[in-house]
Amino acid sequence: MALNLFIPPCIHKRPCYLHPPPQGKPLRVEIQGPLESIQKLLPNIPWYPIVDFPQPGGRALASLVHQALYGENDPSQGDPPLRNEYLAWAMNGRRPLDYIDYYGVTFDHLVPADDPNPEVLAISIIEVDNDGGTFANKHLLFSVDPTEYTGKKVLAVPRCCQRKEGTQDQRRINGEVAERDSKIRQADNA
Ligand SMILES: [Zn+2]
Repeated sequence: MALNLFIPPCIHKRPCYLHPPPQGKPLRVEIQGPLESIQKLLPNIPWYPIVDFPQPGGRALASLVHQALYGENDPSQGDPPLRNEYLAWAMNGRRPLDYIDYYGVTFDHLVPADDPNPEVLAISIIEVDNDGGTFANKHLLFSVDPTEYTGKKVLAVPRCCQRKEGTQDQRRINGEVAERDSKIRQADNA
């Protein structure tokens, strides 16, 4: 059974202005996390073999996150456009295996096609089941009780509520999208 994606409210006294993001604001959203957590959200989607961008699960994950942030998709808008994905190959020592254990996808919400540097929101899916919440409690600005999540929901947290600072997020995420676009153009011209 698929678990729900749960994005808790901002913990700051004055909530960060992108947590939650305003409906009408153009925004580029990156969501990433361990594949084992993503599979709890999307239990029926295969992640093997890896195919050309995007993975089928990337589209499904983006739709799920878009819905969690903005409510039901406006049918006239369709699925949010995917702009990039991130694959982390599982490793055997230093040798990469042929499957991934971590995945991220970047999608746009109302971003004009000619805007190379929109504002970004980076969200991390946090695994809390396999380590009793140790990772979550080390990396988040609030404490997590895994029993609230196990078998019920999957935790996802915007950067403002994580310990990691997101000062490089906009440059990094938009740079990666530009790189993806140029790869796609090269493939089209080949
Ligand atoms: Zn926040």
